[in-house]
Amino acid sequence: MKLLETLRIRASASVRRQKARFGVGVRPARLELRLDGFDAPAPIEGEPLSLERWQERVVEALLWVGPLPVRVIADADHAFLPEIVRFCHRLEMPVTVRTGARGLTAAKAEELVDRGMGACEVVTILDGAGEAAVRSLVHARHSRAASLTVHVHLPVGGEGSLARGFQSARGLGADGVVLCAPWQGVTLGAAVASDLSAALAEGWPLQKTTNVAKEALSRLQPGGPGAPRAAGSCALGGLRLALAPNGAAFVCPFKPGSTMGPLADSGAALADHRAAIRRCDRVCGHPELV
Ligand code: SF4
Repeated sequence: MKLLETLRIRASASVRRQKARFGVGVRPARLELRLDGFDAPAPIEGEPLSLERWQERVVEALLWVGPLPVRVIADADHAFLPEIVRFCHRLEMPVTVRTGARGLTAAKAEELVDRGMGACEVVTILDGAGEAAVRSLVHARHSRAASLTVHVHLPVGGEGSLARGFQSARGLGADGVVLCAPWQGVTLGAAVASDLSAALAEGWPLQKTTNVAKEALSRLQPGGPGAPRAAGSCALGGLRLALAPNGAAFVCPFKPGSTMGPLADSGAALADHRAAIRRCDRVCGHPELV
């Protein structure tokens, strides 16, 4: 406890120093920890970090910008997942877990809630395994009397009907559904496009990503993360900081440039990376990125 308190005090002082040095604009709004290759846009390279090294990276982020919301992305049965959730929660960082149906049993869901998971994004089609995973999360919410938010991220172009997925998620007690675009551009067939329209017509809670996803999904084309954008700029805006399994820090997975160095130096090290994001003229509708 004493160590955590000391870290929090040091973080506040560090944030004040960073603001004075750089202004508030460079402060990321969210930290993403990719523990493994789950739902990754590209193959994962390099040696994965040890648990201790992950904790050090989280503390570096805390000392750099203070407590911020964290999204931990990993297979549900990743060995470090419960401990990383607990560690971030104890540092007063709201924790969202993004995972798949595999390994998301009732016991695992309860363990993650007990460790401090406040929201779960389960990326799955709603087949037998997908439904069981959502049931486990809803059960954990009730059994632990927790205010756990459960969102189903339905992959577009996956098996099964998106519209039926909406209905089934609602029946299972999920809080919302987000349509999950493929990482790489694809041309949607007529059947998928009409299923997509039927799903959107359901009118049941979608997250704020609806408009972005809708725009991007209707314009997905082969050869990139999204079609050319008609207007506006990338929603990332340099505000999200992701850490790859090997500890490298980056913002957009499709742009070159990342840093393995101390996060306190990332403002400068990631400058080119951020400039490329500002110049990017694509539409990128993956909900994980917005
Ligand atoms: S739109 Fe944003 S997230 Fe998508 S490729 Fe461009 S910079 Fe990356």
